[in-house]
Amino acid sequence: MRIGIDLGGTKIEIAVLDSTGTIVHRARVPTPAGDYEATLAAIARLVADAEQMHGRAQGIGIGTPGSISRSTGCIKNSNSVCLNGRNLRADLQALLGRELRIANDANCFALSEAIDGAGAGSAIVFGVILGTGVGGGLVVNGHLLDGPNGITGEWGHNPLLLDAQRTLGAPRACYCGRVGCVETVLSGPAMAADHAFASGEPAQASLTAEQIAQRARAGERSCIQTLERYATNLAQALAVVINIVDPDVVVLGGGISNIDPLYELVPAHWAKWVFSDRVQTRLVRNQHGDSSGVRGAAWLAA
Ligand SMILES: [Zn+2]
Repeated sequence: MRIGIDLGGTKIEIAVLDSTGTIVHRARVPTPAGDYEATLAAIARLVADAEQMHGRAQGIGIGTPGSISRSTGCIKNSNSVCLNGRNLRADLQALLGRELRIANDANCFALSEAIDGAGAGSAIVFGVILGTGVGGGLVVNGHLLDGPNGITGEWGHNPLLLDAQRTLGAPRACYCGRVGCVETVLSGPAMAADHAFASGEPAQASLTAEQIAQRARAGERSCIQTLERYATNLAQALAVVINIVDPDVVVLGGGISNIDPLYELVPAHWAKWVFSDRVQTRLVRNQHGDSSGVRGAAWLAA
């Protein structure tokens, strides 16, 4: 048995996985907003409850947004700001009295899909989150790669090629302080902004990415065109990754991953920028959806 914990901004979820990867226990509680000590206590309670029912876990993993500084062990860039600057792993280890592993949520997603999801059996798996933000994680032969900067797979703040940046009329400023980041064109809100810009609608009245996909399915021309622009830009951004890590499979997660046409449109475009006569990399949808956070966290502990 291993335990995975997904610590998000609104909820903390725990799952107990048996050796086959089957979830045998699952529970969730609201995240105590802005209260670090209460967050630690809530996690400890979830672990105690799970172990009372299923026995002591062989390992515990935790996934959370943000990245973990290798030099200090502290969390940075988390949208749950009370975690930033905290050594969550050390504090939880002290509280639980044992070792645990920690990774960001995009890495947990990639690991979950690589071990027994859409990337199972593939040597090199690039897991991509396309939601309110853009993240990624890289798994090679079942191992999550983790480099000296703690940012492996973080492609969301790479600069896009220039014609993709022009999608929004002009390169867009990113919250990270740079301009023209992948995330400013490929997040869900960015697709909505692109559609509003192209159709001349005020940004406030813009359709969401989900609504754009629905209307494209119904044949609405401007929405089909938005999806095509998005697919071309995603193809460019992924081609940069393919040229460096040459993955067997790219697994999409996050809200955008539910848009079916992307799985044909993107591979139809990416060959233009991939430095190879043929592109064998497959683009696939995730298998575990919202469970990837807890599942990946549990596999971390394997
Ligand atoms: Zn950025």
